[in-house]
Amino acid sequence: MTEILSSYVAGDWHTPNGKPDSARAVHDATNGQLLHHVSSAGVDFAAVDEYARGTGIPELQKLTFHQRGVILKKLGAYLMERAKDYHEISFTTGTTKRDGFVDIEGGIGTLFTYSGVARRQMPNSTVHLDGGVERLSKTGTFLGRHILTSRQGLAVQINAFNFPVWGMLEKFGPMFVAGIPVVVKPATDTAHLTRAVVADMIGSGLLPAGSIQLISGDVTPLFDYLAEQDAIAFTGSAATAKRLGGLECVRDRGTRFFAEADSLNFSLLGPDAGPGTEEFDLFVSGVVAEMTVKAGQKCTAIRRALVPEQHAEAVAEALVAKLSTQGVGNPREKSTRLGPVVSNRQRDDVLDAIDTITSAGAHVLTGGREASDELAKDLGGAYVAATVLQADDPWVDAVHDIEAFGPVASLITYSSTAEAVALAARGRGSLVGSVVTHDREFATEFVCQVAPWHGRILVLDRDDAEESTGHGSPLPTLIHGGPGRAGGGEELGGLRGVEHFMQRTAIQASPDMLTAIGGEWVAGAERHVGQHPFTKSLADLRLGDALESEWRTVSLEDISHFAEFTGDTFYAHTDEEAAAANPFFPGRVAHGYLIVSFAAGLFVQPDPGPVLANYGLEGLTFITPVSPGDSLKVTLTAKRITPRETDEYGEVRWDAAVVNQNDEPVANYDVLTLVAKE
Ligand code: NDP
Repeated sequence: MTEILSSYVAGDWHTPNGKPDSARAVHDATNGQLLHHVSSAGVDFAAVDEYARGTGIPELQKLTFHQRGVILKKLGAYLMERAKDYHEISFTTGTTKRDGFVDIEGGIGTLFTYSGVARRQMPNSTVHLDGGVERLSKTGTFLGRHILTSRQGLAVQINAFNFPVWGMLEKFGPMFVAGIPVVVKPATDTAHLTRAVVADMIGSGLLPAGSIQLISGDVTPLFDYLAEQDAIAFTGSAATAKRLGGLECVRDRGTRFFAEADSLNFSLLGPDAGPGTEEFDLFVSGVVAEMTVKAGQKCTAIRRALVPEQHAEAVAEALVAKLSTQGVGNPREKSTRLGPVVSNRQRDDVLDAIDTITSAGAHVLTGGREASDELAKDLGGAYVAATVLQADDPWVDAVHDIEAFGPVASLITYSSTAEAVALAARGRGSLVGSVVTHDREFATEFVCQVAPWHGRILVLDRDDAEESTGHGSPLPTLIHGGPGRAGGGEELGGLRGVEHFMQRTAIQASPDMLTAIGGEWVAGAERHVGQHPFTKSLADLRLGDALESEWRTVSLEDISHFAEFTGDTFYAHTDEEAAAANPFFPGRVAHGYLIVSFAAGLFVQPDPGPVLANYGLEGLTFITPVSPGDSLKVTLTAKRITPRETDEYGEVRWDAAVVNQNDEPVANYDVLTLVAKE
């Protein structure tokens, strides 16, 4: 009997007894050999739910964002050491080594990115602040601010077959940082690769108990347990997205549902980019790459190649010629550019889609069913020939509606910018579009009009081609998702990806309450003036610890000296008459940078001490001009204190408020410093 893939449930591995009737067989995509069966029979879904809620949530949420970030970094390094093993398994799914990098190393890379997001963009606590303070009252005793806290639920990820590692990790990273335990349900055809990675994640011993579970096979019974604090994050077909969106837990119990479904992404050749231009070659290479990478089984692949009428023939010729040079065959061979699709079932779907599109009004330029049958016969696996279809009429519905999820793209012509915009939008919402042009005016007009239908747009030309990551690569720092047909969801996007799994709450309170709840001192809250705060290490420093400086009078000589010394002889500082003619100034005024420099002189504590470095200012605004004879005073207040997990120091953000002798605000800004822990 073949192996039945196990699931990781409530802290233990579970394998069904015997082979249940419902078990699905999985075959090697390259040669059709049976690999194993997949079934979740016998999984105790009540235990899955209880383990995630009873163990996963408390274990994960007792860690700060930074602690979670440190774990992700170690986990990424641990998995990277084992990447070779994953590539071996990946071959059985039809994936070439080159394409496996996108899935495996690319997936692990998202863990590093989210480690950075947690440690650099979030506080070392469990409450994240969103935006600034809103003043809600006249005297400032009643303020408002948004905070983000971890939801008290679990996230079920349901992933597509095409990226068994990336698809799981790009969701896991942000969910883990958000403090949400995860139940992973991989697609059956490639679940063995996901299982290998999850087994190592658990084996690493790095993850808090309950933070990840794996269901190999049907996950449906788990939906009965989901409610308002939980989420389902789905990637796959529009049909399944629709079905899951109608689940009782989503419809009636408030479970949040994120979908990333199929989309008919376009790439457009600009009218300027005729044969002989660099952009023409870039366009052809881009379409070919998107057809061959992962055998076109990418949610971001180019399905619709939009070309100006006058270049259509040249593009067709170039595409067919370039595709004929792409090695087709066993993904284990280095020369292979196009491997098989994941299964014979998927192959049937792709060939059926080609037939539907051609019978609706398109013809085959290269590839198609017959060529694919010949390939499969020769090579003995789930092979589909790279297929370019030419739409007989650009508005044939099928080329805009039917996604052939394999190495297939349709060539569609346009006659004007307005038509190009309308055709791109005809995808009814896509994950990504690309425009290949060196014409800025055209690019600006086109991009701004198609942006509302797309989650991401690549503008490719000779200037960025060398370093461009290409049409098809979602990046962890940029959002991945799209409106309408693409599912309407949004993933990744750096910090945004974490925020999706947290709850945003508007807190209305007094300044002292807001300081305590948010972990950041806000104007109007208590200040503690005493020992110079620059003499305190992180062990002693508290929010609100402050310094009120002495006064310093600014003289005309100071202003003239600063102008000469720095070379900043702008008339407002040097020419009384010209300055007075300026509606903003009463006459000659002090340089803004002079004010900041004097403020530093007023608040600094010169002796060696715990303050190690000043690494910047943020939010600097000059409010009231300073005339010769005015006096300045600065108040410096510890605003945010962020100890670093892996260093002997942390970051302290100080609120700096400079006022004049009339108590009018002169300048406000944050001073950023590094301060020793002890
Ligand atoms: P499906 O939508 O059928 O499957 C995607 C995931 O959903 C799989 O994990 C699948 O599990 C699971 N699933 C399916 N039905 C249910 C259900 N009723 N309840 C819970 N989970 C369910 O897509 P496929 O992977 O089969 O691919 C089919 C088509 O989807 C492709 O041809 C392509 O058009 C599109 N697709 C789009 C992708 C994208 O990223 N936009 C990615 C992959 C596919 P199981 O495998 O066990 O059935």
